[in-house]
Parts: sequence; C-alpha cells; structure tokens
Amino acid sequence: MIDLHTHSHFSDGLLSVPALYQKAIDNGLSMLALTDHDTVAGVHALMALAEQSSLRIIPGIELSVRFKTKDVHILGLNLDLSSEALCDVIAKQQQSRLHRAQEIARKLTETLGITDVWDKVCAIAGHEHIARPHFAKLLQNEGKVKDFQKAFKQYLARGRVAFVSTAWINIDEAVCAIHAAGGTAVIAHPLKYGLTRTKLNELILAFKACGGEGIEVVSGDTSADDIALLARLCLQYDMLASTGSDFHGQALSRYDLGKQAALPLVCTPIWQLWTN
Ligand code: AMP
Ligand code: MN
Ligand code: MN
Ligand code: MN
Repeated sequence: MIDLHTHSHFSDGLLSVPALYQKAIDNGLSMLALTDHDTVAGVHALMALAEQSSLRIIPGIELSVRFKTKDVHILGLNLDLSSEALCDVIAKQQQSRLHRAQEIARKLTETLGITDVWDKVCAIAGHEHIARPHFAKLLQNEGKVKDFQKAFKQYLARGRVAFVSTAWINIDEAVCAIHAAGGTAVIAHPLKYGLTRTKLNELILAFKACGGEGIEVVSGDTSADDIALLARLCLQYDMLASTGSDFHGQALSRYDLGKQAALPLVCTPIWQLWTN
C-alpha cells in the first residue's frame, strides 16, 4: 500500500510523527509521503524513524498556490530537503500563513468577541504554523459552532466573515521550487476547488505548462466516478497519477492511512519516476 498525501502535528494533522509512522507500519504501507501544509518540519523525524525499516519515506509538502481566484494545493514529492530554493519558498509561505492567521484572529475577536484568539489557536496547534482547521477547533471549543464543518461553512470559508484572502505563491513558483529540490509536482485533489470543467482543464494545462508532472487521481474522498474522470484527464493530458488518503487523523478523515481506493490500472503511477 502506498500513501502519498498525509498530514501530521506539524500542520493540521492530529497525529505526531511517531504516531503516524506507527500507523503506517500497522497498516502495512510500503511507501509513505508526509505532505504537511507549507512545511517539511516533520519529514526529518519521519525519515530518522524509518531508517531501519522497509517503509520507504518520500519527503513531501503540500504547497498552497493561487490560481485565478482559488486557493489550489500542489504536492511536492520526493524532495531534497536541503534545497535552498525550496527553503526560500517555504519561508515566504510561512510569512503569508502567519499574516493570514493573525488577520483571522483579529476578525474573530472583532465579530465574535472571542478573547486571546492568538494564544488559544497557537495552543491548539502546538506551534505558530496555523491552518484554518485550528481556528475551526477554536470556534468549536468556544461554543460558537456545533461542529467542525460548520466552522468552515459559517466563518472560515471564502465569502464568510473570517475568510482572509492570502498572497500565496503562484503555480509556476511552486513547481519551480519543487523541481529545484529534485522533486515531482502533483495537483492535489483536483475536484475539491469547485472549478467548472473548463477551469479544471485550464488548471491542468497551466500546471503542465510549468512542468508539473502529476494529478492526484485517488484522494481521501474521491468517488468511483471522480476517479474515472481524473484517470481520463491523466491520459488526455499525458500526466502521471498519484494516490493519497489526505489523512489528517481518524476523526477528520474518511479513509484510514493508506486505505484509499486503488489507482486505476490505466494510470501510470507517479512513483515510477523514483525507482532508482
Ligand atoms: P489552510 O491551508 O489553512 O487554508 O487550511 C486548509 C485545510 O483546511 C485543508 O487542508 C483541510 O484540512 C481543511 N479544510 C478546508 N476546507 C474545509 C471544510 N470545508 N471542512 C473541513 N475542513 C476543511
Ligand atoms: Mn489540511
Ligand atoms: Mn489540500
Ligand atoms: Mn492535504
């Protein structure tokens, strides 16, 4: 089993790196990529843990990029973590993330009267690398929403009071940094952005024009129809296919680590690039 899209404590995942590693072993994975949002901070520890095991760790990241009016996610896989270009892009993204989080915190105080939002959200995250799920948990803790999903629907999603537009890097910057680090670029969960079919084709073409190699054909919540559509797009645009559960922890994810559906046989798996 192979899982190329997962999260840990270092972003918005519920598991520590050792717990994620143990789960990968328990679930019988042969290959695992840790792809935290805009950070590779957990990857070194994961590689150290897996050093003596047959589990192959693929160093990864999930970069947020701006495509037209949407935030789109690009996975960088099989990265050389010492790459300066990659470090520069990560530093830039972390600044954008920090500014956005502070602005969201300000808005939540202003509109909902929640006090000490910054300290509380940092306590939830365990660090200052804040993602919106940490704010969703805060809204739940403060009794402002009934559940986690409603926090997005009512406050954190685009168009809601606590949404803050972010100056993420563009697709070209993301793909260039991934390539500079010797990695492979994949469009994460392409059906999650609410794009029309025309815009989805434009996204794939723009990504391919920048040198992007892959499409995530199977991700945490793709249906059989979604998988068939993405497999067709892979063939149509001559792209490689990736697979990942987008695991954030049992309570947050539909599929357990590595338990997502199989890649269709017509697809060429992205890991064929890394068999060395
Ligand atoms: P951020 O990168 O800070 O914008 O946070 C994005 C993360 O928020 C995604 O990776 C998901 O884990 C989570 N997320 C986004 N939208 C929703 C939603 N509608 N419901 C639940 N989680 C969401
Ligand atoms: Mn996430
Ligand atoms: Mn994502
Ligand atoms: Mn993800």
